[in-house]
Amino acid sequence: MKLSRILSNENGVSRKQANQSIATGMVMVDGQRCSNASAEVSRFQQVTSHGKIIQQGAPARYLMLNKPAGYLSATRDAVHRTVMDLLPTEWCDDLHIAGRLDRATTGLLILTNDGNWSRNLTDPLTRVPKVYRVTTAYPLSPDTESRFAAGIWFAWEGLTTSPAVLEQLAHCEARLTIFEGRYHQVKRMFHAVGNRVTGLHRERVGDIVLPDDLPPGTYRHLSDSELQSVP
Ligand code: URA
Repeated sequence: MKLSRILSNENGVSRKQANQSIATGMVMVDGQRCSNASAEVSRFQQVTSHGKIIQQGAPARYLMLNKPAGYLSATRDAVHRTVMDLLPTEWCDDLHIAGRLDRATTGLLILTNDGNWSRNLTDPLTRVPKVYRVTTAYPLSPDTESRFAAGIWFAWEGLTTSPAVLEQLAHCEARLTIFEGRYHQVKRMFHAVGNRVTGLHRERVGDIVLPDDLPPGTYRHLSDSELQSVP
């Protein structure tokens, strides 16, 4: 929101008075003088005018959760447990999930209250890689790698998936890297080549890697370098 709007949202302060305060240098954003009335200020920033706090600045949260099987990637559900049940209740109203996982899928789930940041993570245009370990019902056919690399036609959306990278690990096990996050994408890709996913675990999103020492069902805050790694 524009700085002048934040100030004029205060009871009894007109847009003109807000602009005057800003012009006289009495308005600070995160402790720095700001004399540009049109400056965009996020809800995570603190704004003061004449030393009085006008906007406190909400704490920005960026979390990774090691999602166990059986939890829905949803903020609430009448029937099933959701991933929010694994986080402090007081954060939950404000958090959203950046790239959902199916109920049975395990591994790296990212949650935040910063929509601008998560948009970059999930937008197919930014091509952030998502890496999955996949277990299949049947041995991988020899053409799976090339078919995934060529892209799979998704009739429902009327599009071809962007080239994905398959690394075979065993007869029925592979690591798959995709660069978008379409509905049930991994399961549908394997279904399209006559196979079936029986186990799915997300290991990595961009440079954010699920660490071995984060037990299923637990979370931690993202580090600064993990945060900065998102385009
Ligand atoms: N693709 C799927 O099919 N399921 C997931 O949970 C994630 C990606």
